Amino acid sequence: MTTDKQSANNPVFERRESEARSYCRGFPTTFAKAQGSIMTATDGTEYIDFLAGCSSLNYGHNDADMKSALVEHITDDGIAHGLDMYTEEKAKWLEAYENIVLKPRGMDDYKIMMTGPTGTNAVEAAMKLARKITGRRNIISFTNGFHGMTMGSLSLTGNAGKRGGAGGGHLGDVTHMPYEGAMGDVDTLKLIETMLNNSSSGVDAPAAFIFEPVQGEGGLNAASKEWIQGIAKLAKEHGALLIVDDIQAGIGRTGKYFGIEDMGVEPDLITQAKSLSGFGLPFACLLIKREHDVWKPAEHNGTFRGNTHAFVTGRVALEKYWADKDAMEASIAEKSQILEDGLKKVAELIPNAYLKGRGFMRGVDVGTGELAEDICGRAFDKGLIIETSGADDEVVKVLAALNIPNDVLKRGLDIVLEATREALNENKKIAAE
Ligand SMILES: *Cc1c(COP(=O)(O)O)cnc(C)c1O
Repeated sequence: MTTDKQSANNPVFERRESEARSYCRGFPTTFAKAQGSIMTATDGTEYIDFLAGCSSLNYGHNDADMKSALVEHITDDGIAHGLDMYTEEKAKWLEAYENIVLKPRGMDDYKIMMTGPTGTNAVEAAMKLARKITGRRNIISFTNGFHGMTMGSLSLTGNAGKRGGAGGGHLGDVTHMPYEGAMGDVDTLKLIETMLNNSSSGVDAPAAFIFEPVQGEGGLNAASKEWIQGIAKLAKEHGALLIVDDIQAGIGRTGKYFGIEDMGVEPDLITQAKSLSGFGLPFACLLIKREHDVWKPAEHNGTFRGNTHAFVTGRVALEKYWADKDAMEASIAEKSQILEDGLKKVAELIPNAYLKGRGFMRGVDVGTGELAEDICGRAFDKGLIIETSGADDEVVKVLAALNIPNDVLKRGLDIVLEATREALNENKKIAAE
């Protein structure tokens, strides 16, 4: 972090904003505007956005159609906040979700619960519901999993540093099991099965299993169809619910609307957040298999459930991008290929580096957090916003908008390549000294 970069910032941030602030530390400038996949700082510097609000901006910044629909809604005195009362915009969003997302995927059997507006609220609701339905406490989550920062979601999260924010230690009623590939060649399904079948293993019968189809924060580990089906089978056999946390891997990120689409499983509960509004507005929900919708009225409440402005932009996002599912999937597939080709060139520069992730949610494991952070820092100096992921931040991770123009995507990938070359040369120089 250089001082001239820091001077691009108003000192009020350091003076007044809590030390908990995070992303601003890796991208030390003040941003003023954003359009599509470009963010512009106060000093006029333009940055290509390979972070996309951690996949909250899958359609880029300030999409023209979402923006005009929202401006019109506000100008016409449309409802801004209505608790969870029936509103015209909620009806329109529900109908769009039903017709564009659920029905074409044979998912007519799901109901939609409006939770508090951030992802962790949807996870908390899923945990509560699984425990309420089964009368059991234990929930099985996985190594490197990330599910949010409130106490329940945090208890599911693997990262010790994140759990440290709550004073550290085990937060209770959760068993962490190895995700696919977490133990090299060991069959983790077999291991979990053994633990669950042995009544003296110390693992309590679970209320639910929760996993991410691709681990967003935990290093872009991507579960196979076989493993996902294996977990679904174990859940069924042991009377546990299957919760898929699709907050980061969903909404097109892995190539289809859902991260588990075409995997041959029917989760009991699916969380949605991040890009649900399409516009970067807070909005989360929980998809519930109809038979599990056993909530009593107001049993899970909250002031901000269903964000009316997000209903407007989220509906436009579905109509604009997903009404033609095949075209959208083909477009993501094309960009995913460009991404893979670009990242392969990066991986080739580094001994033992390899690609991770699936679809348009990919990165390169460069071996160490130091190198990954060096690459991301240099990339920022060259006009690219990109982050690391993984237990030791060892993965350089790309979360570009799904509609990033191909030439901008390629320019961003060129910057990653150049930043990697520089970082490696610098390391060589230091080693020679
Ligand atoms: C981001 C994320 C969450 C938490 O969402 P928030 O909106 O930050 O509360 C939960 N699960 C996954 C997989 C996520 O990526």
